[in-house]
Amino acid sequence: METRLLKGKPVRDAVLAHLATRLKDAPRAPGLAVVLIGEDPASQVYVRHKEKGCEELGLHHVTHRLPADTTTDQALELVADLNADPAIDGILVQLPLPAGLDEDRILQAVDPRKDVDGFHPDNLGRLVAGAPRFVPCTPKGILRLLRHYEISTRGVRAAVVGRSVIVGRPLSLLLNLKGEGGDATVTMCHSRTPDLAEALRGCGLVIAAMGVPRALGPDMIPAGAVVVDVGINRIEDASRKSGTRLVGDVDAEALMGHAAALTPVPGGVGPMTIAMLLENTCEAMARHEGWHGLA
Ligand code: NDP
Repeated sequence: METRLLKGKPVRDAVLAHLATRLKDAPRAPGLAVVLIGEDPASQVYVRHKEKGCEELGLHHVTHRLPADTTTDQALELVADLNADPAIDGILVQLPLPAGLDEDRILQAVDPRKDVDGFHPDNLGRLVAGAPRFVPCTPKGILRLLRHYEISTRGVRAAVVGRSVIVGRPLSLLLNLKGEGGDATVTMCHSRTPDLAEALRGCGLVIAAMGVPRALGPDMIPAGAVVVDVGINRIEDASRKSGTRLVGDVDAEALMGHAAALTPVPGGVGPMTIAMLLENTCEAMARHEGWHGLA
């Protein structure tokens, strides 16, 4: 079986091109504020990618870089200022936050109408109710990628491995919703799932979002399944000049010829996450302005 590579970059480019065309008639540039606390190296890289995306699309953007010893109250004060800033449509608090900060309180302080990450309980609740406002960027990007490659989820048995609030849980809810991009029968797996291979048996769609390098291979994943690899893990590789390389949560090499389709790492889900962040920011501006030109 030939394994189709589901690349994210061309889909990301198409999303940005569509947004750029629509924004020509927009009342103003959408504004995104990123709050980056501490020195986590992966977070620094992600934030740079987000800034580049904003620049490419002509979005107004500000990154607030705060030291690792920032207190919860200081972070809350900044979020309150951003909530009140009319030039800011979307607020993103880059996770993970340094130890000692109250992540729940800080995320819940973001105005739900500016919560472009979709992590606020108000937005997660809307998702559960089947009427999402902001859909978290990675799950939204995965569904957009599948739609682009004409992979239907209707009637499919799907397994989501990982139950984080950022990826696995919202994704399994979305796959369950009625209508396009949903209508799947979903099994949600996690570290307490006793027999993962058994849970994945018969699944036509497997989404790996565990943060464990190359954990799932052909022994676990059914032949002919569509595999979405969300994982981004840096592992040592002496053959590289940098001494490291990025791998996903599935053993991509072993799955070639076994899976029907696979998202590469890097270059699969990652670019989609950023495209959806930009899209959510544009949607936020459209709602704030009562503008209907995005559709
Ligand atoms: P978390 O660490 O928050 O969650 C991991 C989940 O995987 C947990 O639910 C955990 O179970 C489950 N898990 C861990 N080990 C196993 C195992 N051996 N078997 C079954 N389940 C397991 O991670 P995130 O959801 O934030 O991220 C997951 C991965 O996706 C990471 O590699 C991250 O870097 C990447 N990522 C990529 C993005 C992108 O844009 N491409 C965006 C966001 C994340 P339990 O709940 O029981 O602990």
